Amino acid sequence: MCHALLQNPNFFHILLQIDIELAAETRATKCHYCGGTLHCANYPRKPRCCLEEARINFESRFSFCCNQCRKRKTSVSVRFLGRRVYLGLAVVLMSAGRSPSTSDVAQLSETLDVPARTIQRWRQWWIEQFPLTPLWQAACARFMPPIDLTLLPTSLIERFLGSSDESMRRILVFLSPLTVGHSVTLNEGC
Ligand SMILES: [Zn+2]
Repeated sequence: MCHALLQNPNFFHILLQIDIELAAETRATKCHYCGGTLHCANYPRKPRCCLEEARINFESRFSFCCNQCRKRKTSVSVRFLGRRVYLGLAVVLMSAGRSPSTSDVAQLSETLDVPARTIQRWRQWWIEQFPLTPLWQAACARFMPPIDLTLLPTSLIERFLGSSDESMRRILVFLSPLTVGHSVTLNEGC
């Protein structure tokens, strides 16, 4: 795991490219409800923990609207974790670490202006709510030996091998089903 990814413009660019591909796949499908065609109707976002130079590419979430019944279909995302204001990358990386007082996390939370209580809530979400999600219920058996749920998300991150950017890319893709629907509803306050 590498917190430097939070300050790596190239990694932000990679995440955008993945989201563009995921959005293209979503758009190529028809409306679930009536078979109508999906048109672009992105959601504006005000992302936190976003690199300044990448911000312009992180100010909208790819979403679509049916041209017949007007129902929405939002693409899964590696940039945004549900309706959270913080980027998914931050929610994963800054929750990780064996101890809440890990010094690099403490320093980053100051640099990136993330309150300690917000990180604490993320950690609680990982341990208390993430294991209950349909994603985890369906996927947990794939991890052998079983993941230690008391050490999430670190224990999960460790199973995604490869260079730090490669493993983080893969974990964000793995988590992307959580980014639609109501799997992530935690109120983060401010
Ligand atoms: Zn429709």
